[in-house]
Amino acid sequence: TVEDVRREIQEFYRSFAGLSDEFEVIDKIGEGTFSSVYKAVDLHNSRYFNDYWDLPNESSASESKDTPEKKPYVAIKRIYVTSSPWRILNELKILSMLKGCTTIAPLITAMRHKDQVLAVLPYFSHTDFREFYQTASIPDIQVYFRQLFDALSFVHAHHIIHRDIKPQNFLYNVHTRRGLLVDFGLAETEPERTTRKCACRTWVPGVQLKRPPKPLGGHPKNDSRPGRRSNRAGTRGFRAPEVLLKCPDQSTKIDTWSAGVLLLCFLSKRFPFFNSNDDIEALVELATVFGRRKLEECAALHGVVFETTIPTIKDAPVQLEKLIEWCLAAYKPHAALAHEARRQRFLRRSMQGTGTSSGASDRANYALTDDELRAIRFLSALLDVNPHTRLSAQQAQRHQFLRAVEL
Ligand code: ADP
Ligand code: MG
Repeated sequence: TVEDVRREIQEFYRSFAGLSDEFEVIDKIGEGTFSSVYKAVDLHNSRYFNDYWDLPNESSASESKDTPEKKPYVAIKRIYVTSSPWRILNELKILSMLKGCTTIAPLITAMRHKDQVLAVLPYFSHTDFREFYQTASIPDIQVYFRQLFDALSFVHAHHIIHRDIKPQNFLYNVHTRRGLLVDFGLAETEPERTTRKCACRTWVPGVQLKRPPKPLGGHPKNDSRPGRRSNRAGTRGFRAPEVLLKCPDQSTKIDTWSAGVLLLCFLSKRFPFFNSNDDIEALVELATVFGRRKLEECAALHGVVFETTIPTIKDAPVQLEKLIEWCLAAYKPHAALAHEARRQRFLRRSMQGTGTSSGASDRANYALTDDELRAIRFLSALLDVNPHTRLSAQQAQRHQFLRAVEL
């Protein structure tokens, strides 16, 4: 409630000496796993505000001259004291490395008081994902993804993996049609090639993979094989197959997979699309869409075995077109529209006295447009279970679906 937020802001002022001299905290705007984020007015410095948010192509530049939006608003990310100093340092280091890209939130400054650390970023006014992902047109989606991939290209060029690409971390304003990548709390530097140790590192296109021996008698009760340790940081439903399979040589391609899941949410009008409780369930979800064969191959690529006796999992993948068609046909507003169109046709025909026997041509299914089919081709290049053949962020920027997008 408003009262709770007010009390929390008072507590924030009390616990962080000197904060009130620098900022007027006006609202709480986010609470994640590792931080609380507040909206504040910077009482002294407004230089960065002009640098970053008063860009010449800002359409509202002239009209908003006298509105309060012109204030130097900042977002203060208050990193929880339970975060390790290593993690906090890592996030601040990466943020300061990534300055200079218009689609990445630049670090203005960082402050520490005792065990509390604050990261100060320009405030970016954005729209809740749930308010626009179902109504976005294909051109809207193109503008969104062009900016997301511009940001990711920049991040990846610095050999940094973001690790947590999802709607909450790519802020988007539907009015200005601008996006901003935030949250480098889980980001990491891509490991050196020399330290890589997964079987996938020796992958060669076209060569049949040697599958590791399957454990005899199904799932072993006392498994004596050594466990695999790897970074699995990220968010449920957005983890790439190699993350779920505990590949120790993860690359920047895990981010393009997550971006693919995000595109799938737009195209299917479902969010979250994948919704599992753990990594095993997540693999089952992937197998349900991509088929048993692909998941088995994918596991072999990373030197592990994927085996399942779940009868609903088919060998072959479900075509993404079919999957999306099915989701759209079931999407309520569309289903209602389709129903209304059928009813109108029925009424027209019966008034003209031509009868209604042409039922076969009245397809209940949602027919995909050419634009949607182009988007799905792009989607399938992102949701490639093999990271070697999956699009990189740079390839995605240049893909025909995004190449011609005007920003
Ligand atoms: P966490 O690690 O806790 O997820 P984030 O950096 O993702 O922290 O921030 C949490 C939320 O705060 C975001 O999802 C967003 O809603 C809001 N937020 C973060 N940075 C900004 C910003 N620069 N401008 C506006 N809102 C922001
Ligand atoms: Mg976040």
